[in-house]
Amino acid sequence: MNPALYINGQWQDGQGDEQLSPCDPSLGQVIARLQGASAQQIDLAVTAARQALGPWRSLSGSQRGHYLHSFAHELERRRSTLLELQMRNNGKPRHEASVDLDDAIATFTYYAGLAQQLDATPNREVPLSAPGFQAHCRAEALGVVGLIVPWNFPLVTSAWKIAPALAAGCTVVLKPSEVTPLIEQVYAEIAETLGLPPGVLNIVVGASTVGAALSAHPGLDKLSFTGSNPVGQKVMHSCAEHCRPVTLELGGKSPILVFEDCDLDQAVEWIIAGFCWNAGQMCSATSRLLVHEAIADSLLQRLTQALERLRVGNPQHQEVDMGPLTCEAQYRKVLDYFAIARDEGLVCLTGGEALAEPGWFVSPTVYDQVPGDSRLWREEIFGPVLCARRFSTEAEALALANDSAFGLVATVISADLARAERLAAALEVGHVWINSIQAVFVETSWGGTKGSGIGRELGPWGLAAYQSLKHVTRCLG
Ligand code: NAD
Repeated sequence: MNPALYINGQWQDGQGDEQLSPCDPSLGQVIARLQGASAQQIDLAVTAARQALGPWRSLSGSQRGHYLHSFAHELERRRSTLLELQMRNNGKPRHEASVDLDDAIATFTYYAGLAQQLDATPNREVPLSAPGFQAHCRAEALGVVGLIVPWNFPLVTSAWKIAPALAAGCTVVLKPSEVTPLIEQVYAEIAETLGLPPGVLNIVVGASTVGAALSAHPGLDKLSFTGSNPVGQKVMHSCAEHCRPVTLELGGKSPILVFEDCDLDQAVEWIIAGFCWNAGQMCSATSRLLVHEAIADSLLQRLTQALERLRVGNPQHQEVDMGPLTCEAQYRKVLDYFAIARDEGLVCLTGGEALAEPGWFVSPTVYDQVPGDSRLWREEIFGPVLCARRFSTEAEALALANDSAFGLVATVISADLARAERLAAALEVGHVWINSIQAVFVETSWGGTKGSGIGRELGPWGLAAYQSLKHVTRCLG
């Protein structure tokens, strides 16, 4: 195994105080020990990125796009290693690990294309109403960017930031999560294999100390953060100190609205995918079920039966539908919510308990008729826990759906497409799925409203997040 840090094209062992112990969550066992970066190493990484910036942003978009295409190719070449690593360190079922890898590959391929397109229109004419002047605008690389990511989709979340940043001409210092630091090392290995110019992509590992030091570093031009709301607030404070832009992709407590005209079995499938994929550790988990009262009992009965058939287990030993929670802290947190549910007297239709040790497994869980002031209804749990409520009218469903501090995503299931589109327009979220699984395409945007964050990733908006706009105006006289 390479040392943990990749700075200025060189591998280094961490010299900081933080010890990282990534685990196999199916066994609850440590699989590696790494030392986090020191403040000096973070400084070295930012300095390396600053030195690499000029030459990197001077390359043509096609040249940068060529590197990104090669990243996609190298990810594919490492497929079996990356599937094994995600199953072992994240506890992802094989098919989910495969979807994540495909997503990362698609992201690098897509931004390779957008980088190449930058060459066609470096300067865009801006029509003016005033005579005698001419203006054009150019989108330039923002500069040196710090990227901080969580552990739930390490390959994907990092790809969503690295690929557009490099496409735009920015240079990068990435800090992966302390829970899954081995997975992003592959991006450094690929950078080395491809001969990416030193300093363009730097990776520093560590936990909160390293994250805080990176987000406070004066040498950054932007910070892009994905993670929890409390940490996102700290990152935003650090950025405010330097008056620099920040993208925040934060938590969610998203609704899934199921109407009386739906196909019940199909609805059950989408509901389960919406809160059990990745063992429910998704910012976009649709963990608040709003179901029309006419079908509530029969839908919940089918849902409960389907959940009891779900195969939960170690993805390295068998074909499973759901693996463990990825880290012990998350496992303890979900168990705490089970205890809160018992204290609140919630009606548990299925689950609500830990599964056999070793490993951090919990059963898929459904609570019914959850009151609006329950902590389980309002707070992000980040586990396979669904809370259900019933509604009688579309207006009531919409009001319940929007009554949340978060606003990341929503799903609408109804045979009435006019109604579904009406709701899609009225839901206070960044992404709505109609009669669909949570399919995220690289061409569409990702990001939330309200407490779910600031800014957008993916699509052309994801590229714009790493660009600065400049206008040039001249007098024709
Ligand atoms: P977290 O906030 O605990 O950690 C995220 C990252 O921040 C980690 O790399 C961590 O080491 C780092 N960090 C910790 N303290 C820091 C500090 N003081 N300053 C700077 N960085 C610091 O989140 P997590 O538990 O890793 O991930 C789960 C959260 O992420 C959930 O709330 C989930 O909803 C959210 N998430 C959001 C999206 C999205 O796209 N909106 C996607 C995935 C996850």
